Amino acid sequence: MRKSKPTTHKHRTMSSSSTSENQNPPQLRKDPIWNRWVIFSPARSKRPSDFKSKSSSNPNPTTNCPFCIGNEHQCAPEIFRVPSEDPNWKIRVIQNLFPALSRELDDPVDGASGSVLDGFGFHDVVIETPVHSVQLCDLEREEIGEVFVAYTRRIQQLVDRHSIKYVQVFKNHGAAAGASMSHSHSQMIALPVIPPSVSARLGSMKDFFDQTGKCCICEIQRENLLIDSSTYFFSLVPYAASFPFEIWIVPRYHSAHFHELDAEKAIDLGGLLKQMLNKISLQLNDPPFNFMIHTSPLHGNESELAYTHWFIQIVPQLVGTAGFELATGCYINPVFPEDAAKVLREVNVSESG
Ligand SMILES: [Zn+2]
Ligand SMILES: [Zn+2]
Repeated sequence: MRKSKPTTHKHRTMSSSSTSENQNPPQLRKDPIWNRWVIFSPARSKRPSDFKSKSSSNPNPTTNCPFCIGNEHQCAPEIFRVPSEDPNWKIRVIQNLFPALSRELDDPVDGASGSVLDGFGFHDVVIETPVHSVQLCDLEREEIGEVFVAYTRRIQQLVDRHSIKYVQVFKNHGAAAGASMSHSHSQMIALPVIPPSVSARLGSMKDFFDQTGKCCICEIQRENLLIDSSTYFFSLVPYAASFPFEIWIVPRYHSAHFHELDAEKAIDLGGLLKQMLNKISLQLNDPPFNFMIHTSPLHGNESELAYTHWFIQIVPQLVGTAGFELATGCYINPVFPEDAAKVLREVNVSESG
């Protein structure tokens, strides 16, 4: 019954052709934004175009989903909806039913030091569509723009809470990327501290500014790395990308704070994000992904504004984080950014969809 499989001929052919394409030896590149080394080791993988996701990004469609329109009573309290007070809402911003931090606690005393703090903060959920089967990349650019405007509006409410130091906006798409609900949503966590990756990023940006008098994101290297651009933004694979097919969407204009984005730019950004999500979906077989908005602390000092510049990082989840990365903070990326950018540039996605 069980036949031994005729092995390796096909496999050998594939790997020999890939070796001929990827003769680049490993290389280390220093990422200037987080000030860390990344190892590029293309010998570890097949051709960039063979790099497809194996895990389904949307494994658990649920029938009785609290995020669907009509099930609002199953959710934690609403903060606002768009349009406001409309039963036929398009977007809802609600409290997380299982928050990482508690809004019920007292604001921590300002200037508190030491290594322990009450877990005060806000953990909100942005339901991006009332319809269960619709994903973010299915929305029109104007509708994605409205999601961005909803983020900015919520952050503007949190700016008034002086003890909130930083707001992280992020999206987990697919179970392998950490999503526990398949209904399209993103999250925002407002923290009473500045998280370590943010401090590291600010520190490197300040060093670059002190040495050159320039903002390192305004000066970012784009040659061979650009994927596309719009009126106010461009997208690229960063020179020292930590992850294969990682994409950044960067404002062309200098801006420290994401929450200052206006409606016109939000729609433009919506169009470019839609295109990038469609590109990774087509090229990488609808992979699980995360996106993160990297912005500046809410109440930073004036001088920070000159060298901090917000951007969006999109990370398709194609390789796991393993012992070496955990131990060293040094990522191994099997795809050179130039190769990833070329593949992503060449995937055609129509404007509409
Ligand atoms: Zn749903
Ligand atoms: Zn800048």
